[in-house]
Amino acid sequence: MHTPPTWYVQNQASAPDAWPATAASASPPVAGPVGCKMCGAAPAAPVTIRAHQGFILAMRWHTLEGPFCAICGTALVREMTTKTLWQGWWGVGSLVFGTPFALVSNLLAYRKLRQLQPAVPVHGRRQVPLGKPILRRPLAYVALVPLIWAAVMLFHLVTSAL
Ligand SMILES: [Zn+2]
Repeated sequence: MHTPPTWYVQNQASAPDAWPATAASASPPVAGPVGCKMCGAAPAAPVTIRAHQGFILAMRWHTLEGPFCAICGTALVREMTTKTLWQGWWGVGSLVFGTPFALVSNLLAYRKLRQLQPAVPVHGRRQVPLGKPILRRPLAYVALVPLIWAAVMLFHLVTSAL
């Protein structure tokens, strides 16, 4: 029977240690029910919900990391999206990058949350009040101002070029 040389065995044994980051990321995520961060209920989805504020020369992000249940998550998506819709447009970087990114990532989070069963909160904890849908929140319509402005600018650009 052939026995590999000692240096070979030692190398093999130490190989996983040589790449701790790879070894750690290769291991599967911890299984088991994950509870909502706000109310503790399951099922919950690991989503990230964002709000973006744009100022003339600066911008600010608010990020909430899950997991959230369907109810808390939807409530937070509504809250953060409405905030973005009226505070997100007031800077060039925000208009072009920050706000579209926040809105799309909230939409993706919302789609994930929609696939969950509505969770029953853990005893003694409360869910975030669901609140009104975004389209019934007047502040959301502030977003029409920069959109109309952008449409008018585009219209001028095109008509002046022709
Ligand atoms: Zn919850």
